[in-house]
Parts: sequence; C-alpha cells; structure tokens
Amino acid sequence: MESIQAVKGMNDILPGQVEWWQKVETTAREVLENFGYREIRTPVLEKLELFSRGIGESTDIVEKEMYAFEDRRGEWLALRPEATASVVRAYIQHNLQADFTMQKLYALGPMFRRERPQKGRYRQFHQIDVEAFGVDDPMLDAEMMYMLRVFLERIGLSGVVLHINSLGCPQCRQEHKVRLQGYLETHQETLCPDCRKRRHTNPLRTFDCKVERCQKVLEKAPHLLGSICEPCGTHFERVKDHMEQLRTPYLINPRMVRGLDYYTRTAFEVITDQLGAQNAVGGGGRYNGLAQDLGGPDIPGIGFAIGMERLILLLQQQQEEARRMPKIFLAAMGERARTHAFLLTQELRAAGLETEMDYEGKSLKSQMRRADKYGVSHVLILGEEEMDKGVAKLRNMAGKSQQEIPLEDLPAAMKNL
Ligand code: AMP
Repeated sequence: MESIQAVKGMNDILPGQVEWWQKVETTAREVLENFGYREIRTPVLEKLELFSRGIGESTDIVEKEMYAFEDRRGEWLALRPEATASVVRAYIQHNLQADFTMQKLYALGPMFRRERPQKGRYRQFHQIDVEAFGVDDPMLDAEMMYMLRVFLERIGLSGVVLHINSLGCPQCRQEHKVRLQGYLETHQETLCPDCRKRRHTNPLRTFDCKVERCQKVLEKAPHLLGSICEPCGTHFERVKDHMEQLRTPYLINPRMVRGLDYYTRTAFEVITDQLGAQNAVGGGGRYNGLAQDLGGPDIPGIGFAIGMERLILLLQQQQEEARRMPKIFLAAMGERARTHAFLLTQELRAAGLETEMDYEGKSLKSQMRRADKYGVSHVLILGEEEMDKGVAKLRNMAGKSQQEIPLEDLPAAMKNL
C-alpha cells in the first residue's frame, strides 16, 4: 500500500531538529518576559471575517493564501495566517484593557498560508508573535525594536539588518494613495496584471510585488515617507532618537510597506541576505486603528512576528548543533549487570542526570559506539566482574581516563562530576 505523506508545505519537526526549536522558544520566553510580556494562547481556527476585516480584503494573504472553509453548519472559518488579529480579538473579547490599558502579550505557534513552498517559505510555519496595547508613545516602538535586537543577539544570530519606515496614518496615506495612483497610471503598460489591479484596489501593495519590471517602476514611485503629516513625522523622529539612545542600528527603508493593511506609522523588518528570496526574518509595526476596526475600543497597538523556520535555518548555517544528548551512558554486560544498570539508569534520571542505556543486549563494543555517537561525557561500565567486586567502571570520554566507583556511592558520585 502507498504510504501517506504530510500535506505539501507542512513539515514534521524531528528529534535532532526540535532542539533548535526548543532553544529558540526558551530564549524567546526569557527575553520577552524580561521586557514584561506575558504569554497568550489563542485558537488556530477563527472566523474568516476576523482576518478579512483585520488584515485587509485586498491583501495577498486574504485574497490568495488563506485556508478558509465553510464548516458543516455553514460557518466560514479560517486557519490563522498570522497572530495579530487573533490577539487583538482576544484583547477586546476579554476586556483586557479593563485590567490595565497597557498590555504586553506574546504568542508562539503555527500559522497557515497557502503560498508556493520553497526554502524558508511553507504552508504551515511558526511565529513568535509579540503585541503591546495601550501606548502610543514612540518610546514603546523603540523599546520593541531594541528587544528584538536583544533577542537576536542572545540567540546568537548575526548578519541581519533592521529596516524601519513610517507608513503614516489613514489621512496621510489617503493623500499618498492618490499621488501613487497617478504615478502608476502613467506606467500601467509596464505593470504586471496583479499590479494593474492593485493600482485601483490597494496601490501601496504594489511595493510588495516581486515581478522585476514592477520593481523597476516602483523604484521611482513616490513613497509614503516623503509625504507623511506632521504628527506622524514627529513620531518617526522620536522613534529614531530613542533608537540612537538605545544604540540600536537601523536603516531607513522608505519602500518597505509590509504585506498587511493594518499598519500605521512605525513599520520595521529584520532582513537577511543569507536565505535567498525569503529575506525577511521578522517584521511588524504599529497598528493604531486595528482594535477599533475589529469592533473594540480606540486603543493603539504595536507588534511584530519572527518566522521561526527562517530564524532556525539561519542559526543552523551559523552555529554548531543545538542537539541535546544524554550526558551519561550505562554500558552493561550479562543479565545481573543489565538488571542493575536498569535500576541505576532510572535512579540517575530521577536525580536529574540525563542518562541512557542499552535495552537490546548489544555487545560492549556496540554499546560504546552508541555512547560515542551520543557524544556523552561519561560511560558507566558494568559487567560480571564489576558486579562481583561491587563497583562500576567510570570512563571519562574526553580524557579516556577510567576509575572504579563502589556501587553504593552511585548516583551521588555522578552528581558530583
Ligand atoms: P508577516 O506576518 O508576513 O510579516 O511575516 C512575519 C514573518 O513570518 C516573516 O518575516 C517570516 O519570517 C515569517 N513568514 C511569513 N510567511 C512565511 C511562510 N510562508 N513560511 C515561513 N515563514 C514565513
């Protein structure tokens, strides 16, 4: 019978890989919690309307990429393509602002977009998502980007650049839209069919287009940063001042627009040149109107998401293995020794030591090979001879030195290694 494969673009994360994930998740939790963020977990399935209203009807995500379906009772649902809309929904639904207006939340988990799979782009992928509500001050924008930098440094990622931009507010965006439409009008012959459509529906999205001839046209297009209003301009200046105060390097990129409609003012992306076409490791920005658009109070918000697959691909290119293996291996020969080794293994584990043993009755040579493959620091050898003497041989794998330890002194002796 033909074996069943996973859905295209959706990956298993196997032992040997999962250690990277654990490292990233642990470091993320540590850093985020130091900055005052608390975890929130929301469902992967939401009402379709949440995303079409939240992200924007004429974005690629909503138009082309969502896993949306009608359930058995005719309700339209979608697998979440990103986390912000869900977190905002939860914030409103549970009235979190009643507790503190200012809420700092983070979520880890899978997102779903039906894109064309390639290296760094999958249909199920994972994000570290960070959201802060209730503060409009540019200090928070800078703090968030600083925190992102601290996280990436703590995890040891190098060779990435932080791009920042301001996307203005609905007012300055409207004026820019008219100007951009005018410009695109004069170049419409050159534009791809998608961009010709976007010109009417959502001209800012043309900046996202990957088609080369469109990118050429857009090189000279009027960008938003050049025409943001005074309050938006002041906000951006203050963000930059705080970034300098925090000694956090950035590059101003007036062409970065982000793929979602809800952003206002500050937008940012962490860019790499080490992943081919998928050059964004993470990104985010301010979304001051989103809570209101989703039927909640007028509360400002800002957030970002890091793509875990891309982050891990980069880390794997840059770092040694993150594999976690047992520290101690018990090699036993003969029934009596094996039975004792079984008990000892459990005792060492219960005492907090990562320990592994052979369950298959393999030869000593084969057991030593396995211990070597695991990269353990110590092997405890137990045979008939050792059992008679009431000892175990402790071999230090690094120094290859060997000593005898009375059985009654184990596991205490091991804990003192
Ligand atoms: P976005 O919500 O589109 O700004 O995405 C934020 C981050 O999620 C990106 O910078 C990527 O690292 C990651 N990401 C987005 N889409 C995918 C995908 N299809 N596969 C893998 N990672 C993705």
